[in-house]
Amino acid sequence: MKLSLFLDFDGTTSTVDVGRSFFTTFGNGRILPLVEKWARREISSVECLREEAKLIHASEADLDEFSLQFSIDPGFSDLYDLCVSNDIPVYIVSDGLDLYIKAIMQRHGFGHVPVLANHAIFKGSKLEIEFPYLDDSCGHCGNCKGSAIERLRRNGDRSIFVGDGYSDLCAVDVADYLFAKSDLADYLTRSGKEFLPFDTLQDVTSRVREIIHEAS
Ligand SMILES: [Mg+2]
Repeated sequence: MKLSLFLDFDGTTSTVDVGRSFFTTFGNGRILPLVEKWARREISSVECLREEAKLIHASEADLDEFSLQFSIDPGFSDLYDLCVSNDIPVYIVSDGLDLYIKAIMQRHGFGHVPVLANHAIFKGSKLEIEFPYLDDSCGHCGNCKGSAIERLRRNGDRSIFVGDGYSDLCAVDVADYLFAKSDLADYLTRSGKEFLPFDTLQDVTSRVREIIHEAS
């Protein structure tokens, strides 16, 4: 059995939600009503991000400097090494913005890990967002994690997904192994769906090692 691993970025690969922090900081706190509507699924990610972008006054240099303060989960390195040594492709799939994800991954020595996210472009102090992975059949996500898994996993692969929030919901019914914490874990518990709980990526690494062992 072959496996592929998909990780959410904000709050999962990174220790905090960098996107939320960015929009809150550079949108002067005005994004909260939008985020609440998005969490209730009253507006799509695409609508939410486009409206958030209008509230932003920042440059690409501001975002670069802002992203310097954020870390990735210390367990990422072991998880990545375990996957590489077992021929398991690793993807970061995010409904956030590629600019800060790539900057943070690069700075921590993981600039080579594939990142699929929405594309941020600064024109002066104006932020524009493009959606290169938009899947019209989803209708909610800018970058639907369910469709990313279906598109990227190799023929016959079983998929492992690791996430923490509402942007991960489309992966729930697609992933063969679903790791969840925080809002995603709460949602799955309320919905009566099974998942593998975790706190850190070290927990995920331990369980993935068992999955590899069971599969061999
Ligand atoms: Mg997240």
